[in-house]
Amino acid sequence: MRCLTCQSLSMKAICKDCQENFLSSSFYKRELEKDFFVYSFYKFDEVKELINTKYQFYGDRVFKILSTLSLQKFSSNFTFPHKIYAIPIDDHTFHQFSQTAILTKSLQSKFIKPIFNTLKATNRVKYAGKDLEFRKKHKRDFVYVGKKDIQVILIDDLVTTGLTILEAKECLEKNGCEVLFALTLSDAKN
Ligand SMILES: [Zn+2]
Repeated sequence: MRCLTCQSLSMKAICKDCQENFLSSSFYKRELEKDFFVYSFYKFDEVKELINTKYQFYGDRVFKILSTLSLQKFSSNFTFPHKIYAIPIDDHTFHQFSQTAILTKSLQSKFIKPIFNTLKATNRVKYAGKDLEFRKKHKRDFVYVGKKDIQVILIDDLVTTGLTILEAKECLEKNGCEVLFALTLSDAKN
C-alpha cells in the first residue's frame, strides 16, 4: 500500500519516515473547569485528515499508529500509587472499529486498566460545525453502567469546547467515580 501522508510505498498506513518527521507528539494542557485538565498530543489541524480516517475502513490502522506515538508513550511514563481505569467516551463503533477504544487500549499498563462499553451517549446529535449554544441545548445524555467508586481517566479523539468531556465527567461522578483528568489525541483550540 502507499503511505497516506507522502504516498511512497509502505508496509504501514503511515510510513516510518512520516511517523518520525511529522507525527512526533507534543503535550498540551488545557483547563476545562477549575483544577480539571485535558491533556492532548496533537493540534487538530495537524492531524485532521488522519483523524477523519475514523470514517474509513482502514482507519483502525491509522489510529493504532497514532495511539502508539502518543497515548502509549504517555502511559509508559505514567505511574500512580494504585491502579486506575481508562474509559473511552462513547466507544460505540461508527463502522468497523471504534477509534476511542483503540486509543484507550493503548494505555494498558501496570497502573492503567482500560474498560470498554461502559459509558454511552444516548443522544448522538452531530456537533461538527455547530456553535456552543447548540451544543449546550443538545446534551449527550451519558449513561454509565461500569464499576462504581473508581478513579478514572477519560479518553476521546478530539476536544473542542470540552462540553462533552465535562458532561461525561459529571455522569461518572454521579456514579461515585472520581475523574482525575482527560486525555485526547488532539485539541481543536491549540
Ligand atoms: Zn510517508
